[in-house]
Amino acid sequence: MLNPLELKEAALVYLDRSGGLQKFVDDCKRYNESKQSYAVYRFNILINPSDVVELDAVLGNHILHKPLKAAQLFQSVCFVAVKTLSLIEQLKTETQINVVLKITHLPSLPSYCFDLCEFPFDYISERFYKVEGIVIAMTTITKYTQGARFLCSDETCPFSEGFQYIRVHVPGATESATVRNDFFCKLCASPLQEDRKFRVLGDKQIVEIIAAKALSALKGYSNQPSRFQSLSVFLRDELSNKMKIGNKYGIIGIPICVKACSQAAICIEANSIHLCRTRDPSDIGDKFKNLLSMTSNSCWKFTAILANFFASQIVPPGVYTTLKLCLLMSLVQTSDKDNEAPNYLDILIMTSDQLLVDRLLNFGVCLVPRGIRHPAGSEIFPTVSKDKYGTGAANIQACSALLAKGGVCFIGDLSSYKKDKLDLLQSVLESRTITMYIPGKKCGGVDQQINIPIQTSFWSFIDLDSSSKRHVYKNSNLIGQMDFSMVPSNLMDSFGLLIHCNESSPSHPVLPSVEHCLKKAIDLESISWTDSQQFTAQDFEKLIAFARNLHVELSLEAKNTINGYYLASRRTRTDSVHGSKLTASALKHLVALSEAHAKLSLRKSVLKEDVLIAILLFETSLTLKYGTSVFCTAPNAAFPFELNNAKCLQQRDVYLLQCHQQLQQFIATYGSGVLVSSNEE
Ligand SMILES: [Zn+2]
Repeated sequence: MLNPLELKEAALVYLDRSGGLQKFVDDCKRYNESKQSYAVYRFNILINPSDVVELDAVLGNHILHKPLKAAQLFQSVCFVAVKTLSLIEQLKTETQINVVLKITHLPSLPSYCFDLCEFPFDYISERFYKVEGIVIAMTTITKYTQGARFLCSDETCPFSEGFQYIRVHVPGATESATVRNDFFCKLCASPLQEDRKFRVLGDKQIVEIIAAKALSALKGYSNQPSRFQSLSVFLRDELSNKMKIGNKYGIIGIPICVKACSQAAICIEANSIHLCRTRDPSDIGDKFKNLLSMTSNSCWKFTAILANFFASQIVPPGVYTTLKLCLLMSLVQTSDKDNEAPNYLDILIMTSDQLLVDRLLNFGVCLVPRGIRHPAGSEIFPTVSKDKYGTGAANIQACSALLAKGGVCFIGDLSSYKKDKLDLLQSVLESRTITMYIPGKKCGGVDQQINIPIQTSFWSFIDLDSSSKRHVYKNSNLIGQMDFSMVPSNLMDSFGLLIHCNESSPSHPVLPSVEHCLKKAIDLESISWTDSQQFTAQDFEKLIAFARNLHVELSLEAKNTINGYYLASRRTRTDSVHGSKLTASALKHLVALSEAHAKLSLRKSVLKEDVLIAILLFETSLTLKYGTSVFCTAPNAAFPFELNNAKCLQQRDVYLLQCHQQLQQFIATYGSGVLVSSNEE
């Protein structure tokens, strides 16, 4: 049997020892000094369950499993404190005290976890659970009734004044449960009426979360049919506006059943929230460690071997090496740190081999926790709708780009989008934010404008075969230039990198790929390049997770090379009509590429060797758009040879050294005055 008096005593001792009593007295002082009379006085009391259990196990158990009853217990302790210490003159009855117990954490035991994928849910026992999920939608903030005062409608009744009838919001209650007109006086049975002057309002926001597991449905092709359900979370008062769309949170709260329209839904009334952090991997695995030490004599060999063997499940080594290198670089250039805005590396691929490229990109997005393959026919960017709970708020839905926060959003064939979508994409690529307009008419209230950051890298491709049927190609006059009339050129500039995926080496990519598939189907042992079998998708996942967390810095040499090349390119790629073809964003892209190569090489400093690879990739991309320049590069500048053995790798290093000399020559001739480059923009 619970002894209420002993529990109250323990509660008081806990308040005293935890410093909660002092905070309560301070809160009371503020209410008292305001001299204003309220229907309810709200107090947050911080509860550390471990400390409470240590002090009094029965009380601790009570708080964890009967939180609403425990709150009443603290309510009466607080009322006694207010009265004995004369803390608030205006406060008349115990019901006017609204105590909210804020739980710091829950015991890390399975019975406290509320798994969104495990049925059935317990929403009856009204106790605390912890749930983890990614925010996929959230409403704007609206008001709810924290507390209200009711009076007897019969003026002769003593309860027609005073604070006898106080309604306070309890977790799980809807607005209509708190404020209704079917209450009757206990003394005279006359109907009660609300005294509206005394209504206390608080902020409310509803967010929708899904289990992180549910994202697997949006990752490439999933074999198993699956159904994932979202869960609504009620954030009230100080918790509203504490969550960001797309982030993953751990939420402590009480599961409840709420009736929305004609349907009942399970929701969580949040008590406390915290941002979930992914644990940074400390290791890249032995295979890559060995490879790293074996290639330590060169700044280029490690990434070359990575690119060569990447995704060998899909394409044989030697095919699409440039594309594979760029995908790896884009992957390590993502960041899921909320406070970091990395230089994103967006990739646009031109290909007539849609099938393989699509499979490669799919393979790539699966290697980061937030890799999303955008489902055709849905929205890429957030949308606004009406909130389904009828609170009159606008509901913002995350859609693919926000779900891919801190990862990669693969949006498929670019030529399948209409012009307005492409314009929006371009503005997002340039500003990395999206502005949402919420019309007041539609959702009640005033017009609102919200800016949401878009922290993801975008991958897309253009299928040259299918788009050539829709577009008439002009004959291009410039060497190396392709005709991209189907995509606005501004949009193309917004993508950091343009890759033409018809590898010249080996000259025809289809044959080795077919051979690869056939061999794989017949006999695994017969595949000659058995080394590649050693790097599994999991190995790459681990490597990428490690590399993307590296913090890299540009060396002075690297900075000067980037600025010099940028300046020289601006000067050489100029025509009399449009001025320079290089936009200011080119500098940003060059930095992103250089950083990415350094990270993929597991270096913390960006060297001139990284910048060289960045420039070769970027120059190839420019050549596709505008034709060759004075700084003439091979069509397949980063990987001119096959990489079958150590000798080829050495040969490539020699070639890259020559390229570096050419680059220095180019910069010396056209890029002098490096230091004033920023003024020229
Ligand atoms: Zn009455």
